[in-house]
Amino acid sequence: MNLFALLEQAAARHGERGAVYHGVQQIHSWASLRERALRLAGSLRDLGPGARIAVASENRPEIVELMFAIWAAECVFVPLNFKLHPREMEQILDDSGAARVFASPKIAAQLTPVTSAPVEVIGSAEYRSRCAADPLSVPRYTEAASLAWLFYTSGTTGRSKGAMLSHRNLMAMTVSHLADFDSPDEFSSLIHGAPMSHGSGLYVPPYVSRGARQVVPASGSFDPDEFLDLCGQHQRCSAFLAPTMVARLVQTGRPRPAHLDTVVYGGGPMYVDSLKKAMTAFGPIFVQLYGQGEAPMTITGLRRGDHVTADGWAPDAVLGSVGYARSGVDVAVLGEDGEPAGVDEIGEIVCRGDVVMSGYWNNLGATQATLKDGWLRTGDMGSFDAHGFLTLRDRSKDVVISGGSNIYPREVEEVLLEHPGVLEVGVVGAPDTDWGEVVVAFVVGDVGVAELDAHLLERIARFKRPKRYEFVDELPKNSYGKVLKRELRERLK
Ligand code: AMP
Repeated sequence: MNLFALLEQAAARHGERGAVYHGVQQIHSWASLRERALRLAGSLRDLGPGARIAVASENRPEIVELMFAIWAAECVFVPLNFKLHPREMEQILDDSGAARVFASPKIAAQLTPVTSAPVEVIGSAEYRSRCAADPLSVPRYTEAASLAWLFYTSGTTGRSKGAMLSHRNLMAMTVSHLADFDSPDEFSSLIHGAPMSHGSGLYVPPYVSRGARQVVPASGSFDPDEFLDLCGQHQRCSAFLAPTMVARLVQTGRPRPAHLDTVVYGGGPMYVDSLKKAMTAFGPIFVQLYGQGEAPMTITGLRRGDHVTADGWAPDAVLGSVGYARSGVDVAVLGEDGEPAGVDEIGEIVCRGDVVMSGYWNNLGATQATLKDGWLRTGDMGSFDAHGFLTLRDRSKDVVISGGSNIYPREVEEVLLEHPGVLEVGVVGAPDTDWGEVVVAFVVGDVGVAELDAHLLERIARFKRPKRYEFVDELPKNSYGKVLKRELRERLK
């Protein structure tokens, strides 16, 4: 099993139809994308199967050809988030033992001084000569368990680790996406708003398998107006976006573009209030995924239809949940004794299935701590309700234990965000001699302590109220837009 087969089939069926676009400009047909990938693969043949090949670039159309070239050569795709510091990139290059790095001109200039790995500029004369190499023949005997992608975790809880994803893992993700979330065809388009090193890139295989266009915004990053324009210029558009990106689309005040059909959001919490604003602005085009690099894009999900009922939006308990188990995935919540927790009981979320990674690259200790008794321990806390909807509480490390009670920051954040003066919020625990920990809220917005206290007293238990508020201009976030709770806690020490 090799993911290259998806491109091979799309090229056979859709030959001269447009496959890859930079903005509105067509870069490849399916036939030329296939040919380009096989020639690039031919130029990589000396590295041998299993070599790790890094790609460090803003979103660019070449990422699609490199991805399939690397798979055709039976090598491993190692995308680097282009927003990382060059030293963080070097840590990943070193950890993965990358044999080659393909970098955009900007990133190459930053990386070359700090790495010993050979860096080649995408689009350079050298790169163009690779595109003229003798093509490799189509791979036919790749083991399904062979590595296809080393997915480096975003490191919100420490040093980045490489989740080992095989062709089988990504095929399971592909099938589950097509079964649960979206039904693209050759008239559809995937708009790469989010980074292709992460969620948006992971969605390349499902959309290629249906011959849907790959559209890379000309800016190479997420600009809400450019994104909405592209959804008017291409047909039947789908995209994966982080919740913060969805909020930025809403802030434009623009209506839904004619061809924006599906937005998959996830990768971080989407607060109920923000989701309702997004559905009011754009209609019921939203689908939620809950996943992690270790089970890419695929643990649970809330389908489009789950967001609405005959009378309007689904209840808050549903909108605030992460939905139910994805096709082909077993999901459970385990109590402290390691046994399945009861309905509404909070425990650690675990999952298993063909989508789950085989372990972390070169890190047996972390692998053994994460893959136990056949389950992937997600490190996320949550509970199932009586209908099988999973509500995510927080990362286990983010739970605040105050006076012996567990307080889940997400719950306090949801309620604070309902206050019109609150724009963004991050709740953490601070060490306290009396209580063990106390709840502290970092708030972005225009509101006072008394107002917030009154607002909370009407809505949640007294003991969950923050003992302290810190008013800030912005919250620290990682390069994928996730709030860095670790950094907030550091500030309180
Ligand atoms: P990453 O491996 O970088 O994609 O991060 C995965 C983590 O992001 C998960 O373990 C969750 O803590 C969080 N996450 C992913 N999807 C969601 C979601 N739909 N809602 C809330 N948090 C999420």
